[in-house]
Amino acid sequence: MEQKVWIRYFFPTFLLLFIIVSASHAFGQFEPPVSNSYVTATFMEFRSTGNSPHFHMGVDFSTFLREGVEIRAAEDGYVVRLEIDEGGIYGNTIVLQHENGYRTLYAHLQRFAEKTDFIVNMLKAEFGKQRVVVEFLSDDVKFQRGEVIGYSGKTGEATQPHAHFEVRDKNERYAYDPLKFIDLKKLKPVQMGIGIQSILISDKEYQYVPGASYVFSGDYPKISVEAYTELAKNLLGVKEIKLYFSNELVYHIILDEIPLELYEKPYAVYHEKTTMTSLVYRAFYKLYSEENLPFVRVNRVGEFKNSAYDVKIEISDIFGNSGVFTFTLKKG
Ligand SMILES: [Zn+2]
Repeated sequence: MEQKVWIRYFFPTFLLLFIIVSASHAFGQFEPPVSNSYVTATFMEFRSTGNSPHFHMGVDFSTFLREGVEIRAAEDGYVVRLEIDEGGIYGNTIVLQHENGYRTLYAHLQRFAEKTDFIVNMLKAEFGKQRVVVEFLSDDVKFQRGEVIGYSGKTGEATQPHAHFEVRDKNERYAYDPLKFIDLKKLKPVQMGIGIQSILISDKEYQYVPGASYVFSGDYPKISVEAYTELAKNLLGVKEIKLYFSNELVYHIILDEIPLELYEKPYAVYHEKTTMTSLVYRAFYKLYSEENLPFVRVNRVGEFKNSAYDVKIEISDIFGNSGVFTFTLKKG
């Protein structure tokens, strides 16, 4: 009798403790690098700037189109690398190592914090406008959580001033969605929602109409969706897409971490019709793959050889928004 009571009370307490401990470990671990800001680009969006198409390996925070806005250390840490560079993709960049094992990277800076002036000024005097990468072999240059590490700018590929922020492991083999580590309540509240604009079926483009019927050709349906989170009038990339045929999960993709070696493989996720210019961003997520990719969790579309399908697509983003989209398919 006594033992039963003990088990009943022990179990919920244990679960509760586990949830609190695991949540505080990741969530809110890092401070947003810009105060009272909002996100203008998300993790693993498609980019065609620079020499070749690539993934966006971090998150962009608005600096309200201004240069000189204070960019802050996400956590206590020390400088492991400075990239002094007006051009390139990242521009002026600083990388910090933190005790939790992660590194944070801050790019497109107009200039660095005064603390690093001694080395930056010396190198600029020596090398002028050439790109210089400085690796620090000691932990001498330290920053505290929230301390200013530099000022916003548009060096590198940035067309407007903003803060590009990344989270990597200490060997810089993986990049992680930085928003997994940030308490989103610390960002400026803005209007947002998920939507599908167009769909590609067997490479043909259609406007998405809920409940409509579309025709596919080929062995199995090759569907791509032009999906976004609309946030403060910007179109941002989403995090997770699930494709169902008659309520059976056939394709599942989660874009929350990526090996850096896949940096230049954006077509693993995006259809060739994806375009990105300074004015237009059209991102088509492929819901089929012939490759073995780390971010594809379920890949069974090719097994289906039916002539008609009830299709359901569930899409969610890192901010907690989600949407469900349905239509039917018939073989033409
Ligand atoms: Zn960026």
